[in-house]
Amino acid sequence: MFSLPKPDDDAGLVFDLCISKVRSAATKADLESIRPIIVQAAADYDAAGIARQLHAVPETDLLGDVVSREEMVKVYENRMVGSSAPGRMVYHKLRGSSPNRRCPYCNQRSVNTLDHYLPKQKHSALTVTPINLVPSCTDCNKDKLAGGAGTAEETYLHPYFDDVSMFPWLQAEVIEGSPVAVRFYTVAPAGCDAVLAARIAFQFRTLRLAELYSSQAADEFSGRQKRLAKLLDIGGAPEVRAYIDEEYQSQVDNDANSWRSACYAAWLASDWFCEGGLREVG
Ligand SMILES: [Zn+2]
Repeated sequence: MFSLPKPDDDAGLVFDLCISKVRSAATKADLESIRPIIVQAAADYDAAGIARQLHAVPETDLLGDVVSREEMVKVYENRMVGSSAPGRMVYHKLRGSSPNRRCPYCNQRSVNTLDHYLPKQKHSALTVTPINLVPSCTDCNKDKLAGGAGTAEETYLHPYFDDVSMFPWLQAEVIEGSPVAVRFYTVAPAGCDAVLAARIAFQFRTLRLAELYSSQAADEFSGRQKRLAKLLDIGGAPEVRAYIDEEYQSQVDNDANSWRSACYAAWLASDWFCEGGLREVG
C-alpha cells in the first residue's frame, strides 16, 4: 500500500487518442458524442478522490443507448491495451509508473496489468480515464474485484489519492515454534483518522496480505538462518540483535511499512528468537 504521483494525462485527450482510428463513421460519431460525459465523469472522479468520497461515485452506465458498456470495454482493450493500439503509449506509461514495477496495492508482487480502480463493468465513463487506471499485479486486480461493500470504510486505498506512508500501520510478531513463523497484522496508528485506519485493515484483509507477507518472511528466514545461527555461536544474543538491528534500520529507512521492516522488528523484539529460537528450522 503505497502512493504514486497522479497521472496528469487529460481524460478527454486520451479518449480522443484511443478513438482516433475508428473507421466506421457512425461508430466514431457515437463515441465523439459521449466525450463531454467522459470529461465530466473524470472531473467528478478527481474531486471525489481528493475528498475521499470515491465510494460514493455513482455507477455510470450513463452513456445510455449511444455507446454500450461492451463498446467501451472494446475501446479499452482494442484501442488502448493492444500492442498497436493508438492509446498504447498511455497504457504503457501508466503501467510503468510504479517504482521497480512493484504493485502499489500489495507492495510486493510485480505490476503486470492496469487495474480499473472503479470497475469498468460499473463505471463505463471511466474505462479509459487515466486517473482510474492503476498499475497492479494480477492477484490484487482479481481480489479487488470481489471486495468492497461501497462504504467509506470498505474502500481500497487509491494510490493516486491516498498516502498512508506517514503512519506506521504494519506490525508483526514471531510465532514461537518450529519452524519459526511471523504473523503480520495492521494497527490503527496514532493520528490516523478512523476511516483511513479501517480502509488499511480492509485492504490488508481482502488482498490477503498477512498470508503473502508470512510466506515472504519464511523465505527471508531461510536465507538468513545460517548466518544468524553462526552469530549466536560466536557472540550470543547481543551479536544476533546487533545484526538484525542493522538490517532493520536499513529496511525502515527504505519503507517503514514494508513486510521486511515489520519482520525484522518482530525478530528483534523476540527474546525467544534472538536467544535460540532462530535455530528452529522445522
Ligand atoms: Zn498486488
